[in-house]
Amino acid sequence: MIQTAQKIIIIGGGIGGAATALALHQAGFDVTVYERTSELREVGAGIALWANATHVLQNLGLLEEAIRVGNPITNYQFNSQAGKELVNVNVNRFDLPVLGIHRADLHALLWGNVAREKFVLGQIFERFHQVGDKIQADFASGLKIEGDALIGADGLKSRVRALLLGDNPPIYRNFTTWRGLTDYIPNGYRSDYIREFFGLGKAFGFMMLGKNRMYWYAAAKAPEAQPDSALGRKRELEQMYQDWFPAIPELIAATDEANILKTDLYDRIPTRPWGKQNITLLGDAAHPMLPTLGQGACMALEDAIVITKCLQAQSDPTSAFEKYESQRFARTKSIVEQSLRSSKMGELENPYAVALRNTFMKLMGAAINNSFHSIHAYRA
Ligand SMILES: Cc1cc2nc3c(=O)[nH]c(=O)nc-3n(C[C@H](O)[C@H](O)[C@H](O)COP(=O)(O)OP(=O)(O)OC[C@H]3O[C@@H](n4cnc5c(N)ncnc54)[C@H](O)[C@@H]3O)c2cc1C
Repeated sequence: MIQTAQKIIIIGGGIGGAATALALHQAGFDVTVYERTSELREVGAGIALWANATHVLQNLGLLEEAIRVGNPITNYQFNSQAGKELVNVNVNRFDLPVLGIHRADLHALLWGNVAREKFVLGQIFERFHQVGDKIQADFASGLKIEGDALIGADGLKSRVRALLLGDNPPIYRNFTTWRGLTDYIPNGYRSDYIREFFGLGKAFGFMMLGKNRMYWYAAAKAPEAQPDSALGRKRELEQMYQDWFPAIPELIAATDEANILKTDLYDRIPTRPWGKQNITLLGDAAHPMLPTLGQGACMALEDAIVITKCLQAQSDPTSAFEKYESQRFARTKSIVEQSLRSSKMGELENPYAVALRNTFMKLMGAAINNSFHSIHAYRA
């Protein structure tokens, strides 16, 4: 097929933009990423990459290196707040590993394989214009770039999306999260387990990343943009989780306050279209989701492969982006919706409802196993 979409502009150099740049570069496209931050970095936190995402890394030729810097995960264990096992999901059911990895390590792998001049830092995208069948991107610095197609990989509060679709802002789902990193390994912890704990309106989880670092995350119901308590972030968390399974307060106590990130959680109701003509969206810009299934970045990785295949197969970017959207919409919609449903498990604030939920989870073990299996079985 003749490719007219030779010069591709990507806005945003997060995991989605970086993976897409690499996939397109490997396929022979002339791709450049424009990123607003002045250095390439990811937040100091971990991420779970399930088999659907490690398959993408394999396609990109990065799996061996990812295994080297990541930690293999075999089980996803759900517990009561006191540590009683409710469900234990074997996530190691494919010929591909599941990895716990530091975001910065994943980012470095993706970027390390694209020429440095292909990512332009410190450029804040402002607007686009159609110029005949080309697209022009304008930046706050005054830079103007023309290309054959533009991909908005600029995250949850995407400027490309706002200009393209003019839709509502993302929806706050009444949860905030804290994430921490520490070297402390709780006594008896099995390094191939993700352990998650559910209590009244709160949850906590932890897993090991490569290089023996422990990553933990906490979620609780909270109003949007709630400031830290006067106690400070760490002390507040220590109080919130003081009577939980002992490894939890231990992990919080062992973490430097400066290494605790706080993030409010948003998603969007899935709608189409994502694109118009030679402009489309990818990753969180297209389909932001709650992190309850740990699939947001995995979806961005899948998008990267599918959009590249569509651009290779179609003679023009408009038809390639239509195909990409039609191949990705149903899958991402279903995962956005399942992620929202899963968040309800953490919402309960009444002790009787929590006891009922815990019993229900035990009974639903096989169904939970199957639903994980079908999400992770997808191959982009
Ligand atoms: C608490 C939490 C835990 C999570 N855990 C997991 C997990 O375990 N597994 C998983 O798969 N996913 C997880 N996710 C989801 C995952 O973090 C996101 O889905 C993923 O990072 C989205 O990548 P992205 O590249 O689409 O967007 P982003 O990572 O947001 O990247 C967007 C980039 O665009 C840049 N940008 C924005 N605006 C502009 C502009 N105007 N001009 C130029 N550049 C711009 C930004 O600086 C940024 O670099 C989690 C999310 C949260 C909040």
